[in-house]
Amino acid sequence: KVWKLKTEFSGKVEISDFELTEEEVSDNIKDGEFLTEALYWTVDPYMRTNNVVTVLPGDYMPGEQISKVITSKNSSYPVGSIVRAFSGWRSHTLVTRDAFQMLGRMPDMGDLPLSLALGAMGMPGMTAYFGFLELCKPKKGDIILVNGAAGAVGSLGCEVVGCAGNDIKCKWLKDLGFDKVFNYNKVCLSDTLKTVAPDGFDCFFDNVGGDFTCTALKHMKQCGRVTICGYISLYNDEMPFKGEYPFKTVNTKELQVKGLVATRWYTRWPEGEKVMAQWIKDGAIKYKETIYRGIETMPQAFVGLFDGTNTGKAIISA
Ligand code: NDP
Repeated sequence: KVWKLKTEFSGKVEISDFELTEEEVSDNIKDGEFLTEALYWTVDPYMRTNNVVTVLPGDYMPGEQISKVITSKNSSYPVGSIVRAFSGWRSHTLVTRDAFQMLGRMPDMGDLPLSLALGAMGMPGMTAYFGFLELCKPKKGDIILVNGAAGAVGSLGCEVVGCAGNDIKCKWLKDLGFDKVFNYNKVCLSDTLKTVAPDGFDCFFDNVGGDFTCTALKHMKQCGRVTICGYISLYNDEMPFKGEYPFKTVNTKELQVKGLVATRWYTRWPEGEKVMAQWIKDGAIKYKETIYRGIETMPQAFVGLFDGTNTGKAIISA
């Protein structure tokens, strides 16, 4: 089974944008090749943006999966091996010599659930880890703002003021240890930021973009640090953002704004994975997954990234 994009993304993502098809997988496996069966899939916001991979109608949907080798003529990948590969939204994959570049390195999971290799121990976790520590460079006593805080990336930050789009997520953020939490759908953003941080924020880890960003920048301290992780509020927009020019505030507040592409630290991911695994075992990092069952639910899980249905990391189990 494999999902294709049926119609070009236009505005809000719809379940009807996708088509599930079936294809024969060749059982004529040559030397060096092996066949995998997916155990877990991930859906991530980049699949909507064409920033990482361009997806046109008729194309297979891209993305990572954790899968098990079920037939093999490759001694490095015997039957039963677990791999993390960029095989897309498909149930079975014949990994040929030509397709080896789609194999990623599987983190050392120890006793941790395999699905975490797509979340806290995978790309979103490494985004939070390196993006926050290397770019925001938090210092003791800093006041930090995280939006999209109940999502796969945002919920893995450490401190302090977090916001999300519903009260259940906000309660979870409180349980995680966020010092202050608010539901951005229920408040005046500017008034709330002023109340929670009267002297302004030292750091802002921005997952959302758009009007939120323009408002939040005005609540930064002079020379505050901002990491632009993503701008999910704009991914479904057909028209370019027409809001105010954010660099006016960047200029007057002398902000240090840094863009983030998590793969820049790819060679250092093993270091991040090791620390993250220890923090998870110690309970210092708590994670949540919204689990969908069966490849048939992948579009529903994807839509859930944009309508806020999912909390923590969206995972689809086979
Ligand atoms: P999430 O798990 O956070 O899922 C998306 C969440 O974003 C939703 O649940 C919703 O939560 C929130 N959201 C959706 N639409 C809006 C909106 N219009 N306004 C405000 N919030 C909205 O996804 P990820 O953690 O995987 O990704 C978070 C961000 O990080 C994205 O912008 C993504 O593109 C970016 N990213 C960047 C990477 C990099 O290398 N720079 C790598 C990975 C991700 P709520 O209920 O709070 O509205």
